[in-house]
Amino acid sequence: MSHLLERKTALILGVANKWSIAHAIARAFVREGARVLLTYQSERQKLTVEELAAEMGAGKALPCDVTRDQEVAALIEQLNADNTTLDAVVHSIAFAGREDLARPFVETSREGYLLAQEVSAYSLVTVARATAPLMRTGGALLTLTYLGSVRVVPNYNVMGVAKASLEACVRYLASDLGPLKIRVNAISAGPIKTASARGVKDFSKMLEAVPAHAPLRRNTDPAEVADTAVFLASDLGRGVTGNVIYVDAGFQIMGL
Ligand code: NAP
Repeated sequence: MSHLLERKTALILGVANKWSIAHAIARAFVREGARVLLTYQSERQKLTVEELAAEMGAGKALPCDVTRDQEVAALIEQLNADNTTLDAVVHSIAFAGREDLARPFVETSREGYLLAQEVSAYSLVTVARATAPLMRTGGALLTLTYLGSVRVVPNYNVMGVAKASLEACVRYLASDLGPLKIRVNAISAGPIKTASARGVKDFSKMLEAVPAHAPLRRNTDPAEVADTAVFLASDLGRGVTGNVIYVDAGFQIMGL
């Protein structure tokens, strides 16, 4: 164990179950000595997330639906009441209607478009604005994105457009928050079998394409996404902000 995150406190949003990318990140942060706080979206997930937090040795699990301003405010109030200073915040959240991840993109409804943007992109702005004052001595804000932001990936559709927006948010937030010593970065992960991923029609075809074409000839392991998150949240990443770092076995460099 290298203890890269010793004496750091991290807030991690987006653990739904043990397959969540945020779960792998939380475990890696605990391994590296961080104090980790988790959030869950609704009462439905409360028990699962509390159990996962206890299992991995994380601290509190707190409610936070990122589309509800009063829940975000209550989360920050609770953290302030506990005198919490944050060093890292991980935003590992996305949502789009299942029908928009299956039919042609041109059929996307206004409601479906706005929903994907609100949950998957604007929520990073909400989270940044709310947590920046708690990163009293600077910190690292991380989010998760996917190649569908810059290339057309069949069925990724409205989520690809939301990820493009998310990546632009990363750059604008990095510019705004840099003077406060807050770094903002995204990790672009290769396809990983999670609950959200299963919402994309023919997701298994994405999983099959990567080992066939990626330089490393294999799929992405959530643990290697988590280790990159450790790097970005640690002092080793101190010069990196506004970036999208690909952890995808090299898939994105290939033309054919
Ligand atoms: P996941 O386990 O399903 O995580 C998605 C999380 O978003 C869940 O915890 C979900 O909570 C949460 N969420 C959705 N709406 C929310 C809201 N309004 N407020 C708060 N939380 C909300 O799937 P994942 O694959 O780990 O996804 C994490 C991130 O990685 C996403 O941004 C995803 O796009 C990105 N990513 C995934 C892949 C992949 O192939 N899996 C690849 C690249 C990037 P509930 O379950 O309670 O709704």
